[in-house]
Amino acid sequence: MMIKKMLLIVLLLISFVNFSQTYTTYKPERDKIHDLVHTKLKVNFNFAKKQLNGEAWVTAKPHFYATNKFTLDAKAMIIHQVSLNNEKLDYNYDDFKIIIDLPKKYKKDEEFMVYIKYTARPEKVRQKGSVAITDAKGLYFINADGFDKNKPTQIWTQGETEASSCWFPTIDSPNQKTTQEIYMTVPDRFVTLSNGKLVSQTKNGTNRTDYWKMDQKHAPYLFFMGVGEYEIIKDFYKNIPVNYYVEKEYAPYAKAIFGLTPEMMGFFSERLGVEYPWNKYHQIVGRDYVSGAMENTTAVIHGEQAYQTPGQLIDENVQENTIAHELFHHWFGDLVTSESWSNLTLNESFANYSEYLWREHKYGKLDADMHLFENNEAYKNGQSSDKHLVRFNYDDKEDMFDLVSYNKGGAILHMLRNYLGDEAFFLGLKTYLTENKYKAAEVHQLRLIFERITGKDLNWFFNQWYYNAGHPKIDVSYDYNTIQKKVTVNLLQLNVTEFKFPLAIDIYEDGKRNRHNVFVDGNDASFTFPYTKQPTLIQVNADGVLLCEISENKVLSDYIFQLKNAENFAHRREALLEVAKKQEEKNAFNAIANAMSDPSYKIRILALQKIDLINKFSKKYAIQKIMQIANTDEKTLVQATAIETLGKLTDPELTTIFAKGLESKSYSVIGKALVAMYYVDKQLAITKSRELPDAIRKILATPLTRIYIEEKDEKELPFIAKSVLSGMFLTGDDATKAIYQKAFKQISESNNAEAIQNLVDDMVVKGNQYKSFNFDKVVINLMRRMVQDQKTKNTPNKVRNTAIIKEAMAKLL
Ligand SMILES: [Zn+2]
Repeated sequence: MMIKKMLLIVLLLISFVNFSQTYTTYKPERDKIHDLVHTKLKVNFNFAKKQLNGEAWVTAKPHFYATNKFTLDAKAMIIHQVSLNNEKLDYNYDDFKIIIDLPKKYKKDEEFMVYIKYTARPEKVRQKGSVAITDAKGLYFINADGFDKNKPTQIWTQGETEASSCWFPTIDSPNQKTTQEIYMTVPDRFVTLSNGKLVSQTKNGTNRTDYWKMDQKHAPYLFFMGVGEYEIIKDFYKNIPVNYYVEKEYAPYAKAIFGLTPEMMGFFSERLGVEYPWNKYHQIVGRDYVSGAMENTTAVIHGEQAYQTPGQLIDENVQENTIAHELFHHWFGDLVTSESWSNLTLNESFANYSEYLWREHKYGKLDADMHLFENNEAYKNGQSSDKHLVRFNYDDKEDMFDLVSYNKGGAILHMLRNYLGDEAFFLGLKTYLTENKYKAAEVHQLRLIFERITGKDLNWFFNQWYYNAGHPKIDVSYDYNTIQKKVTVNLLQLNVTEFKFPLAIDIYEDGKRNRHNVFVDGNDASFTFPYTKQPTLIQVNADGVLLCEISENKVLSDYIFQLKNAENFAHRREALLEVAKKQEEKNAFNAIANAMSDPSYKIRILALQKIDLINKFSKKYAIQKIMQIANTDEKTLVQATAIETLGKLTDPELTTIFAKGLESKSYSVIGKALVAMYYVDKQLAITKSRELPDAIRKILATPLTRIYIEEKDEKELPFIAKSVLSGMFLTGDDATKAIYQKAFKQISESNNAEAIQNLVDDMVVKGNQYKSFNFDKVVINLMRRMVQDQKTKNTPNKVRNTAIIKEAMAKLL
């Protein structure tokens, strides 16, 4: 599963979640009393009641011990009948589990099939959601009554972690695997998606029954159903169908969004030495989806953030990493499954690391390293340093879906790959997949395979990284012996537990780089290297592989050299931030100006954001360079930043550059150009903004809001109102938050009833959607402030406006 990263971080901050790990009881792998063999379902949907009418034929056998009881998970269902060979069976049902009395004691490997007729009532499910999944009712009806004219009617399911048993009776545990058949009856205007192959479609009046069949075993949490009015865009990997289910509006862009999938399937198959193991690979986009995306076997669902238009895709396909992530789960997670949620990292660390592997293959090592840097920073900022990667004492299984299981897990695989070498690492993955296919596994199985292949003991590595917490925090110092021409690098670990690790140290003499690979064992380690000339720079963790925090004493000249020469993106970035603080010095200013041509587009963007053009040094050259970047940089995101930087000069002579930006295909360039233009030619910027089609205005809401707020443009408040809440709470960027806080104030104090209506409508939707994070309370407080503002400002519409706000508030209380 891909968690919604931004949402996760922001919601955690406002939801008063207790970060500290509560060491509750040991959470083992679930006992296997029975093994599932096959699951056959026949379902249809009651849209009015948001219920599913189902029949299930569950085939199972005792795992080892003979027994005459059979227990299935079934949440909030009405059970109409349980039988075996047409004989009704006695059972006990407590709203969570059915305990069935079998007619006799079945022995190991003796199969039986029970039939259950039931009604699933997802709205009645009592189990709390989590940060990764905003609730857990398994089966979701979207706009079931069709009342919302802005939203299509859809159905989708979300099984992970244990919510499939909200819509069919099963042993809802990741250490179970079953083959599957589903007959889904739906109104004929809908298409359906489920796991495996679409075998047949049978029309029956205004309804149609689609029969989906999956011959390979997979875990119950990977079962999926999707229903809706979709266009199906067909693609292929070899002879395997790869379809994209999108709403009509996005059909022309489906291939631009998802079209790299077949290439990814080929790359991953080859890299792993294990061909894509399933018979199809379809992806669907679900409205109001509760997470980022989910790897349901051969039927992946994505959230609405996947929907992008060419003007956005030219900047960046924000879904590309997620597409790789869910696909890679089809080996790690779907083919071999972590036996328990404690071992979740066996699924998520690999899916996370696939993003690195894909970027390294497709866009090169620099691009992949930029991704790894952001991945590691998110983990380090996530206040998770006390959590083990494999955790048996978690509070709630949903807590496992965090920056440790994902980001830290991925970083650890990168370190393991570096330590073992590519050949051993990928052979280990191939062996793990081959030996455990269609089975569940725990982390020790991975260790044993790597030990067998390499002949190395790896207990220390796994104990340190998988069964312990934290990462090294290293204080670095140097001693120069100018007589013996030797430099000693001292590494002092400040962490309580001591880490062992391989480490790359670069020593630069006369601008020439020498790489030294050492192994650090002990919390106070020293390494001595000869040199001929006094080193210009020493770079510890030079390849950026080690997940760590380093403190060292460097001066401006070191950072200027580092910005220009460091091999790893993270070190150039670190240097840039330091050099930018000293731009009153000419060589620092020049170093920032030079960094605007760095091979990394993220360094170029940062240099453009940080360069101080109000500075006393000759800035003419720098400005000319920025103008050129605005026109010609290969990345539109860099062009956009260049325009933003030029915009700060409010120089009418730059109007032609901004005018050219307004003609760009890139929405980020258009957005920045509009704002820049506003400060040199207000009328033109506003006219241009009004000429934009509605769809583009929606995407450019932030820059437009900035202009309209400045302009105090009452007419545009209803438009702005629709983005205020997302802008204030669901973005990580402080500048954007500040714009929307201003916007909120203007609307709150305004006389514009339409704007107030739009704002509170959005508040009701999001307040309810994120209730489990107490977001409803946040929103109610804002509404109270609005009522107060109306009173204080004594607006002409005050009575009506206050009524609108209070009516909305009532929907949340
Ligand atoms: Zn995942």
